[in-house]
Amino acid sequence: MTRPFNFSAGPAAMPEVVLQKAAAEMTDWHGCGMSVMEMSHRGKEFISIAKSAETRVRELLRVPETHHILFMQGGGLAENAVVPLNLGGAGAIDMIVTGSWSQKSAKEAARYGTVNLAASNQADGHNTLPDPASWSLSKGARYVHICSNETIHGVEFHELPDLKTLGSDAPLVIDFSSHVASRPVDWSKVGLAFGGAQKNLGPAGVTLVVVRDDLLDKAMDICPSAFSYRNVADNESMFNTPPTFAIYMLGLVFDWLAEQTHGTLKGVEAIEQKNIAKAQRLYDFLDGSSFYENRVAANCRSRMNIPFFLADESRNADFLAGASDSGLLQLKGHKSVGGMRASIYNAMPMAGVEALIAYMTEFERTQA
Ligand SMILES: *Cc1c(COP(=O)(O)O)cnc(C)c1O
Repeated sequence: MTRPFNFSAGPAAMPEVVLQKAAAEMTDWHGCGMSVMEMSHRGKEFISIAKSAETRVRELLRVPETHHILFMQGGGLAENAVVPLNLGGAGAIDMIVTGSWSQKSAKEAARYGTVNLAASNQADGHNTLPDPASWSLSKGARYVHICSNETIHGVEFHELPDLKTLGSDAPLVIDFSSHVASRPVDWSKVGLAFGGAQKNLGPAGVTLVVVRDDLLDKAMDICPSAFSYRNVADNESMFNTPPTFAIYMLGLVFDWLAEQTHGTLKGVEAIEQKNIAKAQRLYDFLDGSSFYENRVAANCRSRMNIPFFLADESRNADFLAGASDSGLLQLKGHKSVGGMRASIYNAMPMAGVEALIAYMTEFERTQA
């Protein structure tokens, strides 16, 4: 039986082979007689699972030795507090607001520090990216926060800002929840990156944090021990019981990622090319249509989350019902934006994008 194509923004589709592998190992992992869910996190079996997941993350995301890899809990929204609790204190937090997620981050950070809204694309309906050269960065900021892919508005940084050249010595913090592992990261520009797993890395429950070593020891006194980066790092992400099954699944997703090829490219570099091709195919279709529309500026369109609108919004419900009947699931746009949204993460094959376009073409024809 073939499964439908699932365009959910998150929790999102996983590679089918990963689900099958997990199913095959569900009751007895590698002959040890236990499910991964039933193992002590201190036992040799789970320690090997966690080590292998971490090694894979380092390999595939090319995380340099200057940065720690942490598996935490609480998702992206917890990190909105955990980051200022760890990096905050005297000095401003420079926020770049480019959509709903960075807006949430700014609001939460303001509970723990002084937020400077250094740039915003609100006046453009969150459809553009403010040019970094125009950002009002503060002197001596604790950190500069961006959401490198706005999942709801479909706005992506295709190049990370180089804060040094913008006159800021602050570390750059990126919320890369919804495009982590879809493209390489230039770690030389990044102090800290965080992302919930449920978009591109696996099931909900584990949060990937990559943090430069010099940022481990700046926490405020009130930072909860379980959320102190230093504490989590020193305890190899096992200060408390980690989300064991989610870490195991994340490891399987990275094993799958390691096997991806595109010409001579492998891993993330290979999946990036596939992601470029999928997104290009869908944007070209939208741009060539007068029935459908994407409103994001061309230079910052997300490869992962593609919001689009029907010219006649009274047909939205019919569109969604027909899509679902055609095996195209969860295309409804976020309620704050409306319309539709196709999330095409790593696990979405080109065949899914083609099936969506075929359906959209047919829907338009039947509405004429
Ligand atoms: C989904 C998402 C979040 C929220 O993650 P939770 O795991 O629900 O806390 C934060 N930031 C971005 C960019 C997201 O896409």
